[in-house]
Amino acid sequence: MEKMKFKAESQRLLDMMINSIYTNREIFMRELVSNASDAIDKRYYKEAEDGCTGKSRDDYEIRIAVDKDARTLTISDNGIGMSKEELENNLGIIANSGSLKFKADNAESMKDVDIIGQFGVGFYSAFMVAKKIQVISKAYGSDQTYMWESEGAEGFTIDKAERTDVGTDIIIYLRDDTEDDKYSEFLDEFRIKSIIKQYSDYIRYPIVMNVTKQRQKPASEEEMNSEDYKPEYETYTEDEKLNSMVPLWKMKKSEITDEQYSDFYKKTYMAWSDPLKVIHTNVEGVISYDALLFVPSDVPFNYYNKDFKPGLQLYSSGVLIMDKCEDLLPSYFGFISGLVDSPDLSLNISREMLQQDRQLRAIAQRLEKKLLQTFGEMRDKESEKYEKFFENFGIQLKYGVYDNFGADKDKLKDLLLYYSSTTESMTTLKDYVSRMADDQKYIYYAAGESRSKIKMMPQMDLFADKGYEVLYCTDNIDEFAFMAMREYDGKEFKNISDKDLGFEKTEEEVKAQADKNEAAKSTLGAIKEALGDKVSSVILSTRLKNHPVCFATSDGVSIEMEKILKAQAA
Ligand code: ADP
Ligand code: MG
Repeated sequence: MEKMKFKAESQRLLDMMINSIYTNREIFMRELVSNASDAIDKRYYKEAEDGCTGKSRDDYEIRIAVDKDARTLTISDNGIGMSKEELENNLGIIANSGSLKFKADNAESMKDVDIIGQFGVGFYSAFMVAKKIQVISKAYGSDQTYMWESEGAEGFTIDKAERTDVGTDIIIYLRDDTEDDKYSEFLDEFRIKSIIKQYSDYIRYPIVMNVTKQRQKPASEEEMNSEDYKPEYETYTEDEKLNSMVPLWKMKKSEITDEQYSDFYKKTYMAWSDPLKVIHTNVEGVISYDALLFVPSDVPFNYYNKDFKPGLQLYSSGVLIMDKCEDLLPSYFGFISGLVDSPDLSLNISREMLQQDRQLRAIAQRLEKKLLQTFGEMRDKESEKYEKFFENFGIQLKYGVYDNFGADKDKLKDLLLYYSSTTESMTTLKDYVSRMADDQKYIYYAAGESRSKIKMMPQMDLFADKGYEVLYCTDNIDEFAFMAMREYDGKEFKNISDKDLGFEKTEEEVKAQADKNEAAKSTLGAIKEALGDKVSSVILSTRLKNHPVCFATSDGVSIEMEKILKAQAA
Protein backbone atom coordinates (compact mmCIF):
# COMPACT_ATOMS: atom_id res chain seq x y z
CA MET A 1 0.00 0.00 0.00
CA GLU A 2 1.22 3.38 -0.84
CA LYS A 3 1.37 5.76 2.05
CA MET A 4 0.24 9.22 1.10
CA LYS A 5 0.96 12.51 2.70
CA PHE A 6 -1.73 14.90 3.74
CA LYS A 7 -1.96 17.90 1.55
CA ALA A 8 -3.39 21.13 2.75
CA GLU A 9 -5.24 23.88 1.00
CA SER A 10 -2.60 26.31 2.13
CA GLN A 11 -4.56 29.33 1.13
CA ARG A 12 -7.49 28.41 3.33
CA LEU A 13 -5.30 27.11 6.10
CA LEU A 14 -3.38 30.32 6.30
CA ASP A 15 -6.57 32.28 6.24
CA MET A 16 -8.12 30.26 9.01
CA MET A 17 -5.04 30.44 11.09
CA ILE A 18 -4.60 34.12 10.81
CA ASN A 19 -8.18 34.99 11.46
CA SER A 20 -9.21 32.49 14.03
CA ILE A 21 -6.28 32.05 16.36
CA TYR A 22 -5.90 35.51 17.74
CA THR A 23 -8.35 37.65 19.62
CA ASN A 24 -6.51 40.92 19.04
CA ARG A 25 -5.00 42.11 15.86
CA GLU A 26 -2.23 44.04 17.60
CA ILE A 27 -0.81 40.71 18.75
CA PHE A 28 1.19 40.62 15.52
CA MET A 29 3.56 43.19 17.06
CA ARG A 30 4.14 40.93 20.02
CA GLU A 31 4.88 38.06 17.65
CA LEU A 32 7.31 39.93 15.40
CA VAL A 33 9.11 41.48 18.34
CA SER A 34 9.37 38.07 20.00
CA ASN A 35 10.88 36.69 16.80
CA ALA A 36 13.39 39.53 16.69
CA SER A 37 14.31 38.84 20.30
CA ASP A 38 14.72 35.13 19.54
CA ALA A 39 16.94 35.99 16.57
CA ILE A 40 19.18 38.13 18.77
CA ASP A 41 19.28 35.46 21.44
CA LYS A 42 20.49 33.00 18.83
CA ARG A 43 23.15 35.34 17.53
CA TYR A 44 24.29 36.11 21.06
CA TYR A 45 24.54 32.42 21.71
CA LYS A 46 26.32 31.62 18.46
CA GLU A 47 28.83 34.41 18.93
CA ALA A 48 29.65 33.23 22.41
CA GLU A 49 30.13 29.75 20.99
CA ASP A 50 32.43 31.14 18.29
CA GLY A 51 34.56 32.73 20.97
CA CYS A 52 33.46 36.28 20.33
CA THR A 53 33.16 37.67 23.81
CA GLY A 54 32.97 41.17 25.14
CA LYS A 55 29.62 41.88 23.58
CA SER A 56 26.79 42.88 25.83
CA ARG A 57 23.07 42.73 25.38
CA ASP A 58 23.07 46.45 24.75
CA ASP A 59 24.99 45.95 21.51
CA TYR A 60 21.83 44.53 20.01
CA GLU A 61 18.58 46.20 19.26
CA ILE A 62 15.16 45.79 17.79
CA ARG A 63 14.13 48.82 15.81
CA ILE A 64 10.68 49.93 14.80
CA ALA A 65 10.17 52.45 12.02
CA VAL A 66 7.07 53.80 10.35
CA ASP A 67 6.69 55.41 6.97
CA LYS A 68 3.31 57.09 6.89
CA ASP A 69 3.41 57.85 3.17
CA ALA A 70 4.33 54.37 2.12
CA ARG A 71 2.06 52.96 4.87
CA THR A 72 4.79 50.63 6.06
CA LEU A 73 5.80 49.47 9.48
CA THR A 74 9.25 47.95 9.71
CA ILE A 75 10.61 45.82 12.51
CA SER A 76 14.34 45.26 12.28
CA ASP A 77 16.80 43.34 14.36
CA ASN A 78 20.49 42.66 14.31
CA GLY A 79 19.96 39.06 15.23
CA ILE A 80 21.08 35.89 13.54
CA GLY A 81 19.32 36.54 10.22
CA MET A 82 18.15 33.91 7.76
CA SER A 83 19.82 32.28 4.76
CA LYS A 84 17.86 31.57 1.59
CA GLU A 85 17.04 28.06 2.81
CA GLU A 86 15.99 29.34 6.17
CA LEU A 87 13.69 31.91 4.62
CA GLU A 88 12.17 29.16 2.59
CA ASN A 89 11.76 26.72 5.45
CA ASN A 90 10.93 29.02 8.32
CA LEU A 91 8.63 31.40 6.53
CA GLY A 92 7.44 29.03 3.84
CA ILE A 93 6.28 26.08 5.87
CA ILE A 94 3.40 26.79 8.15
CA ALA A 95 3.94 25.45 11.64
CA ASN A 96 7.67 24.99 11.09
CA SER A 97 9.57 26.65 13.89
CA GLY A 98 13.23 27.34 13.32
CA SER A 99 13.39 28.50 16.91
CA LEU A 100 12.10 25.26 18.33
CA LYS A 101 14.69 23.40 16.26
CA PHE A 102 17.42 25.74 17.44
CA LYS A 103 16.46 25.11 21.03
CA ALA A 104 16.46 21.35 20.46
CA ASP A 105 19.81 21.39 18.65
CA ASN A 106 21.51 23.40 21.35
CA ALA A 107 19.57 22.21 24.37
CA GLU A 108 22.54 21.03 26.37
CA SER A 109 24.71 24.05 26.25
CA MET A 110 22.07 26.73 26.23
CA LYS A 111 22.04 28.76 29.38
CA ASP A 112 20.58 32.18 29.89
CA VAL A 113 18.80 31.97 26.57
CA ASP A 114 15.08 32.42 26.72
CA ILE A 115 13.83 31.60 23.25
CA ILE A 116 10.14 32.30 22.92
CA GLY A 117 9.09 30.80 19.58
CA GLN A 118 7.89 27.24 19.25
CA PHE A 119 4.82 26.91 17.08
CA GLY A 120 5.95 28.32 13.80
CA VAL A 121 2.84 30.37 13.19
CA GLY A 122 3.39 33.72 14.93
CA PHE A 123 4.99 35.33 11.91
CA TYR A 124 1.88 34.84 9.79
CA SER A 125 -0.18 36.85 12.26
CA ALA A 126 1.23 39.90 10.49
CA PHE A 127 -1.11 39.09 7.62
CA MET A 128 -3.95 40.21 9.89
CA VAL A 129 -2.84 43.75 9.09
CA ALA A 130 -0.57 43.40 6.06
CA LYS A 131 -1.41 43.21 2.40
CA LYS A 132 2.22 42.51 1.65
CA ILE A 133 5.22 41.52 3.74
CA GLN A 134 8.86 41.76 2.78
CA VAL A 135 11.57 40.10 4.83
CA ILE A 136 15.09 41.27 4.06
CA SER A 137 17.65 39.17 5.83
CA LYS A 138 21.38 38.52 5.99
CA ALA A 139 22.38 35.42 7.89
CA TYR A 140 25.15 35.36 10.48
CA GLY A 141 28.30 34.18 8.72
CA SER A 142 27.06 34.97 5.23
CA ASP A 143 27.72 37.81 2.77
CA GLN A 144 24.54 37.46 0.79
CA THR A 145 21.25 39.13 1.60
CA TYR A 146 17.90 37.74 0.45
CA MET A 147 14.46 39.15 0.30
CA TRP A 148 11.37 37.04 0.93
CA GLU A 149 8.15 38.62 -0.24
CA SER A 150 4.54 37.56 -0.03
CA GLU A 151 1.06 38.91 -0.41
CA GLY A 152 -0.44 36.17 1.66
CA ALA A 153 -1.95 32.90 0.64
CA GLU A 154 -0.81 32.93 -3.00
CA GLY A 155 2.74 32.08 -2.03
CA PHE A 156 6.05 33.87 -1.81
CA THR A 157 9.15 34.78 -3.77
CA ILE A 158 12.79 34.93 -2.71
CA ASP A 159 15.31 37.18 -4.43
CA LYS A 160 18.78 38.51 -3.84
CA ALA A 161 18.81 41.84 -2.04
CA GLU A 162 21.07 44.29 -0.20
CA ARG A 163 21.63 44.76 3.50
CA THR A 164 24.79 46.11 5.10
CA ASP A 165 24.78 44.16 8.35
CA VAL A 166 23.69 40.81 9.59
CA GLY A 167 20.08 40.84 10.67
CA THR A 168 16.53 41.06 9.45
CA ASP A 169 13.98 43.69 8.42
CA ILE A 170 10.34 42.75 8.39
CA ILE A 171 8.48 45.30 6.28
CA ILE A 172 4.73 45.30 6.70
CA TYR A 173 2.68 47.02 4.00
CA LEU A 174 -0.46 47.84 5.92
CA ARG A 175 -3.83 47.15 4.39
CA ASP A 176 -5.96 50.07 3.34
CA ASP A 177 -8.41 51.45 5.85
CA THR A 178 -12.03 50.67 5.27
CA GLU A 179 -15.17 51.90 6.94
CA ASP A 180 -15.00 49.19 9.62
CA ASP A 181 -11.34 48.31 9.69
CA LYS A 182 -8.67 50.82 10.43
CA TYR A 183 -5.10 49.78 10.00
CA SER A 184 -3.51 53.21 10.18
CA GLU A 185 -3.38 52.93 13.95
CA PHE A 186 -0.23 50.89 13.43
CA LEU A 187 1.47 53.93 11.94
CA ASP A 188 0.77 55.98 15.02
CA GLU A 189 3.80 56.38 17.27
CA PHE A 190 1.73 56.66 20.38
CA ARG A 191 -0.23 53.51 19.61
CA ILE A 192 2.92 51.57 18.79
CA LYS A 193 4.50 52.65 22.05
CA SER A 194 1.54 51.49 24.03
CA ILE A 195 1.36 48.12 22.28
CA ILE A 196 5.04 47.53 22.96
CA LYS A 197 4.57 48.54 26.59
CA GLN A 198 1.68 46.20 26.97
CA TYR A 199 3.07 43.05 25.42
CA SER A 200 6.77 43.41 25.04
CA ASP A 201 7.93 45.63 27.88
CA TYR A 202 10.24 42.95 29.22
CA ILE A 203 11.90 41.81 26.03
CA ARG A 204 15.56 41.66 27.04
CA TYR A 205 16.90 43.77 24.20
CA PRO A 206 16.19 47.42 23.62
CA ILE A 207 13.24 48.13 21.32
CA VAL A 208 14.03 51.48 19.77
CA MET A 209 11.98 53.90 17.69
CA ASN A 210 12.92 57.23 16.26
CA VAL A 211 10.11 59.35 17.61
CA THR A 212 8.98 62.86 16.87
CA LYS A 213 9.12 65.29 19.73
CA GLN A 214 8.60 68.95 20.37
CA ARG A 215 10.79 71.33 22.24
CA GLN A 216 10.95 75.01 22.97
CA LYS A 217 13.33 76.86 20.69
CA PRO A 218 16.25 78.30 22.58
CA ALA A 219 16.11 82.06 23.09
CA SER A 220 18.51 84.62 24.52
CA GLU A 221 17.94 86.15 27.92
CA GLU A 222 17.19 89.44 26.26
CA GLU A 223 14.53 87.92 24.02
CA MET A 224 12.90 86.11 26.90
CA ASN A 225 12.74 89.25 29.00
CA SER A 226 11.13 91.32 26.29
CA GLU A 227 7.44 91.93 26.77
CA ASP A 228 6.16 90.41 23.57
CA TYR A 229 8.27 87.27 23.88
CA LYS A 230 6.38 84.16 22.86
CA PRO A 231 8.18 80.86 23.13
CA GLU A 232 8.55 79.11 19.79
CA TYR A 233 8.45 75.38 19.37
CA GLU A 234 10.23 73.12 16.95
CA THR A 235 9.86 69.45 16.18
CA TYR A 236 12.80 67.13 16.21
CA THR A 237 13.30 63.40 16.26
CA GLU A 238 15.11 61.28 18.75
CA ASP A 239 15.67 57.58 19.37
CA GLU A 240 13.63 56.37 22.24
CA LYS A 241 13.79 53.04 24.01
CA LEU A 242 10.22 51.80 24.33
CA ASN A 243 10.60 48.86 26.68
CA SER A 244 11.78 48.62 30.27
CA MET A 245 13.79 45.49 29.39
CA VAL A 246 14.46 44.20 32.86
CA PRO A 247 11.28 43.32 34.64
CA LEU A 248 11.14 44.46 38.22
CA TRP A 249 10.44 40.91 39.31
CA LYS A 250 13.67 39.66 37.75
CA MET A 251 15.77 42.17 39.63
CA LYS A 252 17.49 41.32 42.90
CA LYS A 253 15.12 41.96 45.77
CA SER A 254 17.83 43.71 47.73
CA GLU A 255 18.25 46.20 44.90
CA ILE A 256 14.60 47.19 44.65
CA THR A 257 13.34 50.10 46.71
CA ASP A 258 9.87 50.37 48.21
CA GLU A 259 9.31 53.29 45.91
CA GLN A 260 10.04 51.20 42.84
CA TYR A 261 7.55 48.58 43.93
CA SER A 262 5.00 51.27 44.66
CA ASP A 263 5.48 53.02 41.34
CA PHE A 264 5.18 49.79 39.46
CA TYR A 265 2.06 48.84 41.38
CA LYS A 266 0.30 52.13 40.85
CA LYS A 267 1.23 52.40 37.20
CA THR A 268 0.44 48.83 36.28
CA TYR A 269 -2.66 48.20 38.32
CA MET A 270 -4.19 51.64 38.33
CA ALA A 271 -4.01 52.04 42.09
CA TRP A 272 -4.03 55.35 43.93
CA SER A 273 -2.26 54.50 47.12
CA ASP A 274 0.84 52.53 48.00
CA PRO A 275 0.35 48.82 48.47
CA LEU A 276 -0.14 47.59 52.03
CA LYS A 277 2.19 44.70 51.34
CA VAL A 278 4.40 43.52 48.50
CA ILE A 279 5.16 39.85 48.08
CA HIS A 280 8.00 39.08 45.72
CA THR A 281 9.12 35.49 45.26
CA ASN A 282 11.46 33.74 42.89
CA VAL A 283 10.95 30.02 42.86
CA GLU A 284 13.21 27.51 41.15
CA GLY A 285 12.29 23.88 41.04
CA VAL A 286 10.13 21.38 39.26
CA ILE A 287 8.18 24.39 38.16
CA SER A 288 9.97 27.72 38.17
CA TYR A 289 8.30 31.07 38.41
CA ASP A 290 8.61 34.59 39.67
CA ALA A 291 5.66 36.21 41.34
CA LEU A 292 5.06 39.77 42.35
CA LEU A 293 1.90 40.26 44.35
CA PHE A 294 0.40 43.38 45.87
CA VAL A 295 -2.05 43.63 48.72
CA PRO A 296 -3.95 46.90 48.34
CA SER A 297 -4.21 49.33 51.26
CA ASP A 298 -7.83 50.04 50.44
CA VAL A 299 -10.64 48.13 48.90
CA PRO A 300 -10.32 48.70 45.12
CA PHE A 301 -12.92 51.28 44.12
CA ASN A 302 -14.80 48.93 41.83
CA TYR A 303 -14.27 45.80 43.91
CA TYR A 304 -17.94 45.21 44.56
CA ASN A 305 -19.00 46.09 41.03
CA LYS A 306 -19.80 43.28 38.70
CA ASP A 307 -17.28 44.61 36.21
CA PHE A 308 -14.42 44.00 38.65
CA LYS A 309 -12.29 41.25 37.23
CA PRO A 310 -10.00 39.42 39.62
CA GLY A 311 -6.87 37.71 38.38
CA LEU A 312 -3.14 38.03 37.99
CA GLN A 313 -1.17 38.86 34.89
CA LEU A 314 0.50 35.85 33.41
CA TYR A 315 3.83 36.17 31.65
CA SER A 316 5.81 33.53 29.87
CA SER A 317 9.49 34.46 29.80
CA GLY A 318 8.67 38.14 30.01
CA VAL A 319 5.99 38.15 27.31
CA LEU A 320 2.45 38.91 28.42
CA ILE A 321 0.13 35.97 27.83
CA MET A 322 -2.97 36.85 29.81
CA ASP A 323 -3.97 40.01 31.59
CA LYS A 324 -6.40 38.51 34.10
CA CYS A 325 -5.66 34.92 34.87
CA GLU A 326 -8.22 33.91 37.47
CA ASP A 327 -6.88 30.46 38.08
CA LEU A 328 -3.76 31.65 39.82
CA LEU A 329 -5.46 32.63 43.06
CA PRO A 330 -8.37 31.26 45.06
CA SER A 331 -11.39 33.50 44.71
CA TYR A 332 -11.15 34.74 48.28
CA PHE A 333 -7.85 36.39 47.36
CA GLY A 334 -9.49 38.17 44.43
CA PHE A 335 -8.47 41.58 45.77
CA ILE A 336 -4.78 40.86 45.21
CA SER A 337 -3.17 42.20 42.08
CA GLY A 338 0.12 41.28 40.54
CA LEU A 339 1.72 38.87 38.14
CA VAL A 340 3.35 35.53 37.62
CA ASP A 341 6.12 34.93 35.13
CA SER A 342 7.13 31.40 34.29
CA PRO A 343 9.20 29.87 31.51
CA ASP A 344 7.59 26.47 32.14
CA LEU A 345 4.10 27.02 30.81
CA SER A 346 2.70 25.00 27.97
CA LEU A 347 1.08 27.67 25.90
CA ASN A 348 -1.53 27.06 23.28
CA ILE A 349 -0.83 28.06 19.74
CA SER A 350 -2.16 31.62 20.05
CA ARG A 351 0.02 32.01 23.14
CA GLU A 352 -2.99 33.62 24.76
CA MET A 353 -3.97 30.57 26.74
CA LEU A 354 -2.48 27.49 28.28
CA GLN A 355 -2.81 24.04 26.87
CA GLN A 356 -3.26 22.47 30.23
CA ASP A 357 -3.64 23.78 33.70
CA ARG A 358 -1.46 21.40 35.66
CA GLN A 359 1.37 23.91 35.90
CA LEU A 360 -1.05 26.69 36.72
CA ARG A 361 -2.57 24.70 39.50
CA ALA A 362 0.83 23.91 40.91
CA ILE A 363 1.73 27.58 40.90
CA ALA A 364 -1.65 28.57 42.33
CA GLN A 365 -1.23 26.18 45.23
CA ARG A 366 2.14 27.58 46.10
CA LEU A 367 0.90 31.15 45.85
CA GLU A 368 -2.01 30.46 48.17
CA LYS A 369 0.34 28.93 50.67
CA LYS A 370 2.73 31.83 50.41
CA LEU A 371 -0.04 34.35 50.93
CA LEU A 372 -1.44 32.54 53.95
CA GLN A 373 2.03 32.41 55.42
CA THR A 374 2.62 36.09 54.72
CA PHE A 375 -0.62 37.15 56.33
CA GLY A 376 0.13 34.91 59.30
CA GLU A 377 3.43 36.67 59.80
CA MET A 378 1.77 40.04 59.40
CA ARG A 379 -0.78 39.10 62.07
CA ASP A 380 1.96 38.13 64.49
CA LYS A 381 4.51 40.83 63.78
CA GLU A 382 2.63 43.81 62.40
CA SER A 383 -0.69 43.62 64.17
CA GLU A 384 -1.75 47.16 63.38
CA LYS A 385 -1.15 46.64 59.70
CA TYR A 386 -2.90 43.32 59.85
CA GLU A 387 -5.98 44.82 61.48
CA LYS A 388 -6.15 47.40 58.74
CA PHE A 389 -5.93 44.63 56.18
CA PHE A 390 -8.59 42.68 58.01
CA GLU A 391 -10.98 45.60 58.19
CA ASN A 392 -10.80 45.76 54.40
CA PHE A 393 -10.63 42.14 53.40
CA GLY A 394 -11.47 40.02 56.44
CA ILE A 395 -14.86 39.32 55.00
CA GLN A 396 -13.18 37.70 51.98
CA LEU A 397 -11.20 35.41 54.25
CA LYS A 398 -14.45 34.41 55.95
CA TYR A 399 -15.89 33.58 52.57
CA GLY A 400 -12.76 31.58 51.99
CA VAL A 401 -13.36 29.58 55.15
CA TYR A 402 -16.96 29.10 54.10
CA ASP A 403 -16.35 27.75 50.62
CA ASN A 404 -12.79 26.64 50.49
CA PHE A 405 -12.16 23.04 51.28
CA GLY A 406 -8.48 23.22 50.55
CA ALA A 407 -5.81 21.77 52.72
CA ASP A 408 -4.87 25.12 54.14
CA LYS A 409 -8.21 25.82 55.74
CA ASP A 410 -6.62 25.66 59.17
CA LYS A 411 -4.24 28.45 58.31
CA LEU A 412 -7.13 30.47 57.01
CA LYS A 413 -9.10 30.00 60.25
CA ASP A 414 -6.18 31.44 62.15
CA LEU A 415 -6.29 34.58 60.07
CA LEU A 416 -9.77 35.50 61.22
CA LEU A 417 -10.25 38.28 63.76
CA TYR A 418 -13.30 39.12 65.85
CA TYR A 419 -14.34 41.77 68.27
CA SER A 420 -15.39 40.26 71.55
CA SER A 421 -17.02 41.08 74.86
CA THR A 422 -13.76 41.11 76.78
CA THR A 423 -11.09 42.55 74.51
CA GLU A 424 -10.44 46.06 73.27
CA SER A 425 -8.96 45.13 69.93
CA MET A 426 -9.86 42.21 67.73
CA THR A 427 -8.92 38.71 68.72
CA THR A 428 -7.99 35.51 66.93
CA LEU A 429 -9.76 32.25 67.66
CA LYS A 430 -6.53 30.92 69.06
CA ASP A 431 -6.32 33.70 71.63
CA TYR A 432 -9.98 33.25 72.47
CA VAL A 433 -9.43 29.59 73.21
CA SER A 434 -6.42 30.37 75.38
CA ARG A 435 -8.60 32.62 77.52
CA MET A 436 -11.49 30.17 77.88
CA ALA A 437 -12.73 29.48 81.42
CA ASP A 438 -11.93 26.05 82.87
CA ASP A 439 -15.51 24.86 82.73
CA GLN A 440 -16.25 26.40 79.33
CA LYS A 441 -16.92 23.88 76.58
CA TYR A 442 -17.88 26.03 73.60
CA ILE A 443 -16.71 29.05 71.70
CA TYR A 444 -19.61 31.44 72.14
CA TYR A 445 -20.63 34.09 69.69
CA ALA A 446 -23.45 36.54 69.28
CA ALA A 447 -24.75 37.65 65.92
CA GLY A 448 -26.34 40.98 65.23
CA GLU A 449 -26.44 44.04 63.09
CA SER A 450 -23.82 45.98 65.02
CA ARG A 451 -21.55 45.63 67.99
CA SER A 452 -23.63 48.09 70.01
CA LYS A 453 -26.80 46.10 69.36
CA ILE A 454 -25.12 42.86 70.32
CA LYS A 455 -23.92 44.38 73.59
CA MET A 456 -27.55 45.06 74.51
CA MET A 457 -28.73 41.49 73.95
CA PRO A 458 -30.44 40.07 77.07
CA GLN A 459 -28.22 36.98 77.01
CA MET A 460 -25.01 38.97 77.39
CA ASP A 461 -25.44 39.51 81.14
CA LEU A 462 -25.28 35.85 81.90
CA PHE A 463 -22.06 35.42 79.92
CA ALA A 464 -20.49 38.37 81.71
CA ASP A 465 -21.50 36.75 85.00
CA LYS A 466 -20.01 33.42 84.11
CA GLY A 467 -16.86 35.05 82.81
CA TYR A 468 -17.31 33.56 79.32
CA GLU A 469 -16.07 35.65 76.43
CA VAL A 470 -18.47 36.20 73.53
CA LEU A 471 -17.37 36.90 69.95
CA TYR A 472 -19.29 39.56 68.10
CA CYS A 473 -20.46 38.65 64.64
CA THR A 474 -21.69 41.50 62.51
CA ASP A 475 -20.95 40.19 59.02
CA ASN A 476 -23.63 38.20 57.25
CA ILE A 477 -21.12 35.51 56.47
CA ASP A 478 -19.94 35.02 60.08
CA GLU A 479 -22.35 32.38 61.24
CA PHE A 480 -22.15 30.52 57.97
CA ALA A 481 -18.40 30.43 58.29
CA PHE A 482 -18.69 29.04 61.83
CA MET A 483 -21.03 26.39 60.56
CA ALA A 484 -18.57 25.48 57.84
CA MET A 485 -15.72 25.32 60.36
CA ARG A 486 -17.78 23.35 62.87
CA GLU A 487 -15.08 23.63 65.49
CA TYR A 488 -11.79 25.28 66.29
CA ASP A 489 -9.14 23.45 68.28
CA GLY A 490 -11.76 20.84 69.22
CA LYS A 491 -14.19 23.45 70.54
CA GLU A 492 -17.50 23.81 68.79
CA PHE A 493 -19.09 27.14 68.09
CA LYS A 494 -22.28 28.10 69.85
CA ASN A 495 -24.61 30.99 69.31
CA ILE A 496 -25.59 32.57 72.64
CA SER A 497 -29.17 32.55 71.37
CA ASP A 498 -29.13 28.78 71.15
CA LYS A 499 -31.75 27.04 73.28
CA ASP A 500 -29.10 24.77 74.70
CA LEU A 501 -26.06 26.73 75.75
CA GLY A 502 -24.21 23.64 76.81
CA PHE A 503 -23.51 24.77 80.37
CA GLU A 504 -22.63 22.10 82.88
CA LYS A 505 -25.69 21.46 85.04
CA THR A 506 -26.12 19.20 88.02
CA GLU A 507 -28.98 16.74 88.09
CA GLU A 508 -30.66 18.77 90.80
CA GLU A 509 -30.47 21.91 88.71
CA VAL A 510 -32.05 20.16 85.74
CA LYS A 511 -34.78 18.79 87.95
CA ALA A 512 -35.40 22.13 89.68
CA GLN A 513 -35.75 23.77 86.29
CA ALA A 514 -38.21 21.14 85.08
CA ASP A 515 -40.23 21.56 88.27
CA LYS A 516 -40.36 25.31 87.82
CA ASN A 517 -41.55 24.93 84.23
CA GLU A 518 -44.18 22.48 85.38
CA ALA A 519 -45.38 24.91 88.05
CA ALA A 520 -45.62 27.78 85.55
CA LYS A 521 -47.29 25.60 82.95
CA SER A 522 -50.54 27.51 82.72
CA THR A 523 -48.86 30.92 82.45
CA LEU A 524 -46.44 29.67 79.79
CA GLY A 525 -49.30 28.02 77.94
CA ALA A 526 -51.25 31.27 77.92
CA ILE A 527 -48.28 33.17 76.49
CA LYS A 528 -47.76 30.55 73.82
CA GLU A 529 -51.43 30.75 72.90
CA ALA A 530 -51.27 34.52 72.62
CA LEU A 531 -48.19 34.38 70.38
CA GLY A 532 -49.50 31.50 68.31
CA ASP A 533 -47.26 30.42 65.40
CA LYS A 534 -44.75 33.17 65.98
CA VAL A 535 -42.87 31.01 68.46
CA SER A 536 -42.50 27.26 68.71
CA SER A 537 -42.44 27.08 72.50
CA VAL A 538 -42.29 29.26 75.62
CA ILE A 539 -40.20 28.14 78.57
CA LEU A 540 -38.74 29.55 81.75
CA SER A 541 -35.16 30.64 81.26
CA THR A 542 -32.17 30.54 83.54
CA ARG A 543 -30.09 32.80 81.37
CA LEU A 544 -31.74 36.15 82.07
CA LYS A 545 -30.66 38.74 84.64
CA ASN A 546 -31.79 42.25 83.79
CA HIS A 547 -34.16 41.50 80.92
CA PRO A 548 -37.60 39.87 81.14
CA VAL A 549 -37.44 37.80 77.92
CA CYS A 550 -35.14 36.65 75.14
CA PHE A 551 -35.42 34.63 71.97
CA ALA A 552 -33.67 31.35 71.54
CA THR A 553 -33.31 29.06 68.57
CA SER A 554 -32.78 25.35 68.43
CA ASP A 555 -32.65 24.07 64.88
CA GLY A 556 -29.17 25.28 63.97
CA VAL A 557 -30.29 28.27 61.95
CA SER A 558 -30.16 31.36 64.11
CA ILE A 559 -32.45 34.34 63.94
CA GLU A 560 -29.78 36.39 62.17
CA MET A 561 -29.13 33.62 59.65
CA GLU A 562 -32.84 33.34 58.99
CA LYS A 563 -32.95 37.06 58.22
CA ILE A 564 -30.07 36.73 55.78
CA LEU A 565 -31.51 33.70 54.05
CA LYS A 566 -34.89 35.42 53.75
CA ALA A 567 -33.28 38.55 52.28
CA GLN A 568 -31.39 36.42 49.75
CA ALA A 569 -34.48 34.51 48.75
CA ALA A 570 -36.48 37.69 48.26
P1 ADP B 1 8.03 30.62 16.04
O1 ADP B 1 8.56 31.92 16.49
O2 ADP B 1 6.99 30.06 16.93
O3 ADP B 1 9.10 29.64 15.73
P2 ADP B 1 7.17 32.15 13.76
O4 ADP B 1 6.12 31.90 12.73
O5 ADP B 1 6.98 33.36 14.59
O6 ADP B 1 7.24 30.87 14.67
O7 ADP B 1 8.57 32.19 13.06
C1 ADP B 1 8.98 31.09 12.27
C2 ADP B 1 10.47 30.98 12.21
O8 ADP B 1 10.99 31.99 11.40
C3 ADP B 1 11.16 31.15 13.55
O9 ADP B 1 11.21 29.94 14.25
C4 ADP B 1 12.54 31.60 13.09
O10 ADP B 1 13.33 30.50 12.77
C5 ADP B 1 12.27 32.36 11.84
N1 ADP B 1 12.24 33.82 12.06
C6 ADP B 1 11.16 34.60 12.18
N2 ADP B 1 11.49 35.88 12.37
C7 ADP B 1 12.85 35.94 12.36
C8 ADP B 1 13.82 36.98 12.52
N3 ADP B 1 13.46 38.25 12.73
N4 ADP B 1 15.13 36.65 12.44
C9 ADP B 1 15.51 35.36 12.24
N5 ADP B 1 14.65 34.34 12.09
C10 ADP B 1 13.33 34.61 12.15
MG1 MG C 1 7.47 33.57 16.71
